[in-house]
Amino acid sequence: MDETVDTPFLRRAAQASDLAALRAALYQGTRDGELAALGPVAALGEADRARLVDRAVHLLETRLADIEWRVPSDAEIREIMDLVLGVPTRDEHFEVRRNFLRFTPFPFQFERPEGSAPVPRGFEVAIIGAGLAGIAMAVQLERIGIPYVVYERGHEIGGTWSTHKYPDIRVDTLSITYEFSFDDVHPWTEYFARGGEVRSYIESIARKYGAFEHVRLGHDLEEARFDEERSIWRLVFRRPDGERVERSANAIVSAAGLFSKPKKPDIPGIEEFQGRVLHPTQWTQDLDVRGKRVAVVGNGSSGVQLLAPVAAEAEHVTVFQRTPQWISPRPNYGRPVEREVRWLIDHLPGYWNWCRYTSIIALMTWHEDYLVPDPAWEAKGGHITQKSEELRGFLVDYIRSQIGDRPDLLEKLIPDYAPMVRRPVVDNGWYKALTRDDVDLVTSPIARLTAQGIETADEKRHEVDLLVFATGFEVDKFLWPAEYHGERGLSLRDYWAPESPRAYLGMMVPRFPNFFMLYGPNSQPVSGGISLPSWFQIWAAWIAQCLHVLFEEGHARVAVSEQAFEDYNARLDAEGAGMAFIQDTRSIERNYYVGPEGRLLVSNPYETAELYAMMKAPDRDDLEFA
Ligand SMILES: Cc1cc2nc3c(=O)[nH]c(=O)nc-3n(C[C@H](O)[C@H](O)[C@H](O)COP(=O)(O)OP(=O)(O)OC[C@H]3O[C@@H](n4cnc5c(N)ncnc54)[C@H](O)[C@@H]3O)c2cc1C
Repeated sequence: MDETVDTPFLRRAAQASDLAALRAALYQGTRDGELAALGPVAALGEADRARLVDRAVHLLETRLADIEWRVPSDAEIREIMDLVLGVPTRDEHFEVRRNFLRFTPFPFQFERPEGSAPVPRGFEVAIIGAGLAGIAMAVQLERIGIPYVVYERGHEIGGTWSTHKYPDIRVDTLSITYEFSFDDVHPWTEYFARGGEVRSYIESIARKYGAFEHVRLGHDLEEARFDEERSIWRLVFRRPDGERVERSANAIVSAAGLFSKPKKPDIPGIEEFQGRVLHPTQWTQDLDVRGKRVAVVGNGSSGVQLLAPVAAEAEHVTVFQRTPQWISPRPNYGRPVEREVRWLIDHLPGYWNWCRYTSIIALMTWHEDYLVPDPAWEAKGGHITQKSEELRGFLVDYIRSQIGDRPDLLEKLIPDYAPMVRRPVVDNGWYKALTRDDVDLVTSPIARLTAQGIETADEKRHEVDLLVFATGFEVDKFLWPAEYHGERGLSLRDYWAPESPRAYLGMMVPRFPNFFMLYGPNSQPVSGGISLPSWFQIWAAWIAQCLHVLFEEGHARVAVSEQAFEDYNARLDAEGAGMAFIQDTRSIERNYYVGPEGRLLVSNPYETAELYAMMKAPDRDDLEFA
């Protein structure tokens, strides 16, 4: 054992650790009966927690040297999952959770069996976008030897994490879950990594897994047109100097991102305003807000993340809020990973894996607890579910605790809709910042801009030097502004019009052969369970399997059948209609999960395991090959 690792160090490590994961890893390594005798960590009282910490320290001191790295059997994993949860893991949940634990390399990945048909000569996939999704697709294709090129309009890899450089930009889901399941331990420096660290991570993955040299930066796809005679896609890119270049590909995977099209509101008088206007995607690291009167329009994830650091420097900040959000605290948010915890990750076999597991189990009951209204509860006069109302109570108490003696603020800050029906926002000192003398919260709607600032509907004028439109993204304009034309020149936009975009499994559209989307319509998994980077892997593996069938059967193209597309969407709409996103009508028109026709647009209504079962392999009957 390292000489600095003495008993006090181990005690600090155990105390700072994810105790449920620590117990799971130690149990896996020692089969210690005392560890098994205790119930789930979340339910332990103080005395039992202290006992557990003591036992963990003792085992780390006496047994660590004998614990070897090994892959536990499924039976063992299941036993430990049950120990962690305190209830048996349902069969249908096991596989997806086990894969997320990542005891074996490359879970959620598709491998072509030995003896598979060779990839036809010259076959190439064009991946559009070098964010997390595009890189997930690239790594999948790299592993199975299907040639590809990643076209990215930006100047670097990273997508969201390249375009956002505003103060305090960071993930609001734990770093340990916001990573690819195919990679090994990543030494995140903070529990919720900052944007720059995430961007570097994505690039490092691209380099490590061989995707980097396939990335073509400065290639903005303007048009993709299917050439039916040759079964290829003809692509037109615009380069940064305005030049247009043409390329072709046998298949396209759009990984263009849901949050890559900034939305700025159309406010009268914008041309008169003499100050500076920017969207958070335009924030540069040298932007100095000192001495400036800043307006932050919007209280979504970005507006909430940047307020406190901006308020700390600016002369004055006015926050313009249209709809209150449920803004909640997260344990360890903004905190560096302690040296002792890092040591546990590096030295205790299984600790990192079980941390991944415990990081997601807190989210695993979202679906039934918050998203599906409970008729029995509603019949008693309740709203959505009992858990939903308990969460509401907790969050209201939290708001009170943050704003202290400011009843004027309280009434403006409590949403009238249930928590979780819109994307949860994590507090980065937002409520506290509102209590500063130099910060005002305005809820009167913005009427117009003037040369000096903003005029609100109550006829008040707010003087502003810098106007930050933290107003989100054009999420409903999937793939926009690129134009796609499928069979017989059919435009994707026309195919989707007049309703909002739809897709089969979020990935395919009939009459658009060899065309796939990652994070397409209704892709957003909302029920917790596993993280977005792992979903990107699952979707990438699904696409890779479609290509595999293409090669095996000697076809040139694959598309989803019209019938399968319609059936899938009819079922999805029926399922979605019953969910809290739609049932809680009080925020529906301002909820980007829901489209203009009142159907789910971005989100998916299915519970994690059900969604995984649908997506782990293509259903041959739903696809048409030619
Ligand atoms: C501020 C912010 C914070 C977030 N935090 C979290 C979080 O904590 N946890 C979480 O799970 N999710 C979070 N998200 C969601 C986040 O977008 C996804 O997690 C993830 O980054 C999406 O990856 P992507 O590859 O699909 O899209 P993106 O990261 O948007 O990448 C898409 C890429 O495609 C490129 N592109 C688009 N169109 C074209 C074209 N026509 N031609 C060429 N290139 C094109 C873009 O330039 C971009 O690089 C956050 C989003 C934002 C905006």
